[in-house]
Amino acid sequence: MSTKHQLYKFKVETIRSISHGVYILSFKHNFQFSAGQIIAVDLIPDGKPRLYSIASAEKEALMEILFDEKKDGKLTPFLSKLVPGDDIYVSEPFGTFKISAESGYCIAAGTGIAPFVSMARSGLGNNKVLIHGAKMDESFYFSDLLEEIMPGNLVRCCSQQEDTKYYKGRLTQWLINQNDLPSTQHYYLCGSAEMVVQVRDILINKGIPFQNIISETYF
Ligand SMILES: Cc1cc2nc3c(=O)[nH]c(=O)nc-3n(C[C@H](O)[C@H](O)[C@H](O)COP(=O)(O)OP(=O)(O)OC[C@H]3O[C@@H](n4cnc5c(N)ncnc54)[C@H](O)[C@@H]3O)c2cc1C
Repeated sequence: MSTKHQLYKFKVETIRSISHGVYILSFKHNFQFSAGQIIAVDLIPDGKPRLYSIASAEKEALMEILFDEKKDGKLTPFLSKLVPGDDIYVSEPFGTFKISAESGYCIAAGTGIAPFVSMARSGLGNNKVLIHGAKMDESFYFSDLLEEIMPGNLVRCCSQQEDTKYYKGRLTQWLINQNDLPSTQHYYLCGSAEMVVQVRDILINKGIPFQNIISETYF
């Protein structure tokens, strides 16, 4: 997508694959941001940057993003080949998807977990329930870290692995099965447009007011 953000040059500090075709990339930064916000990223200063949620903590010196490689994509097949010391171009953090300190529910699909990793690492996860949907057990990125920070408040819904260790089914089914979702809390949604629309419908049908549903749509 095309954005008009000013991009600044940084050096890749680390890049590692954490699952098939899924990577974490980090660089040193001096930005201020709130958990939930995004950056625009590119390999050239004046191209068509893509947007990524920040996955690192608000006060951490290294900024991290989590991305999955789209085989025919314009950026991610090249992003995944970077090595430490290579240049990347990054905007200042921006976006209105900010996760407050109040208690609430966080609902993510796939790499949509990234803003909630930032939230947990920033000390905002203690009073949240985090529901993560993925196809396979290996796709519950940052699972160990989240389990450590949010013990008992992490629900993993695995839709395609028969012998999953977690809830077997889509996160939408898990939500449909809940009869006690509080209507006074905030619900943060992050994932594909399809996921966000489906989850929003389920929550509204369960009596959650529209204004309590805050979403970030990846496209
Ligand atoms: C607010 C926001 C936050 C995001 N955060 C993240 C994040 O944290 N992590 C993450 O992994 N992603 C995130 N994304 C998605 C990310 O911005 C990129 O879209 C994604 O990484 C793919 O980029 P790409 O350039 O590699 O692929 P693209 O070039 O954008 O292509 C994506 C797919 O579309 C297909 N495609 C491209 N052009 C066409 C066409 N003309 N017709 C048909 N199909 C086409 C390609 O084959 C490919 O499969 C976010 C998106 C938004 C909007």
